[in-house]
Amino acid sequence: MTRTMSFDELTQLIERVFVRYGLEARSASLVAPVVAGAERDGSHSHGLARMAGYVSTLKSGWVNLSATPRVADVAPSLVLTDADNGFAQIALADSRQLLLKKVREQGVAAVAIKNSHHFGALWPDVEIFAEEKLIALTTINTRSYMIVWDGKRRILGTNPMAFACPRGNGNPVVWDQASSPISQGDVLLASRDKRALPPGFVVDAEGKASVDPDAFLGGGAFLPFGGHKGASIAFLVEILSAAVTGGRFGFDDRVADYPGGKTSHAGQFVLVLNPLITAGPDFFDRVEDLIAHLKASGAKRLPGDRRYEQRRRSLAEGIRVSSEHYDTMISFLA
Ligand code: NDP
Repeated sequence: MTRTMSFDELTQLIERVFVRYGLEARSASLVAPVVAGAERDGSHSHGLARMAGYVSTLKSGWVNLSATPRVADVAPSLVLTDADNGFAQIALADSRQLLLKKVREQGVAAVAIKNSHHFGALWPDVEIFAEEKLIALTTINTRSYMIVWDGKRRILGTNPMAFACPRGNGNPVVWDQASSPISQGDVLLASRDKRALPPGFVVDAEGKASVDPDAFLGGGAFLPFGGHKGASIAFLVEILSAAVTGGRFGFDDRVADYPGGKTSHAGQFVLVLNPLITAGPDFFDRVEDLIAHLKASGAKRLPGDRRYEQRRRSLAEGIRVSSEHYDTMISFLA
């Protein structure tokens, strides 16, 4: 059984749940659309399936419910923001005006966010810049989930990154992916649905190859996508998101001190640049030329296309919410 909801209805329901568990109203209004947007776009690993994790985290004291980010203008093209142990989306929203001013003045600028929590998909963090005809790249580190380079312990996180390229007309090209072959959210979904994982994705607590999602959840680890090359990407993400920002490395996560906490206390790096300054007005035609060549080569779709199609359908027909998810949300409000 499913129930159909508009984007606004779903956002408001999520917001009410956040506020019910003490998240300050403005923060709730900034994080709720991220969860609702993931559900709308079919990014199910970071949609409503995450609400139990958010609620558990909000109750645990792990996240500052009334965070007030501190935004510092540290260099002509650099912003440094301390998220005050709140959600990264709030810190990014508070940094946005200064970041865009610097991009207008310098052509390129970055914000380094530390002391933050990110529990959502990353595409919302970059898509908004590409909608303003800017290129954006973001990385976040997570708590340790992966073993890399033949290591024996989890040190690096699933460390996702997302990239958005504007187009002259139409939706930007946006890719958003973890450094592990799938996200932890997808492992949770596989465990719930009793599905095996593809080989090569995880190892069990003894370091043995496994296809059992519960073997990962019971103390196992991810392997990086693409072997040592994915590990190098995860390292880059850890450096940009934690070392550059002054945030916490994944191995230094202290969530165990806050039973029920599910989010990673980590950092985020966002780079934004105006391609028209280097490439001139030809930039958009050249992007279209590249895309046309890719399509002529047989490429069936661009990253983001599946999401945009799902978004179009959700906005036209409503977002289908399973009764399980809906009932859980209502029970959170009881
Ligand atoms: P996926 O492997 O599902 O997708 C990665 C990217 O590849 C997407 O942009 C997707 O576009 C694109 N893509 C997928 N299939 C194709 C195809 N056949 N042709 C062209 N492009 C394709 O992502 P992950 O499982 O790695 O990550 C899922 C989510 O988890 C991400 O949103 C990520 O940000 C999030 N995450 C969040 C973390 C956190 O702590 N906050 C930690 C780790 C991950 P499309 O969407 O259109 O399918």
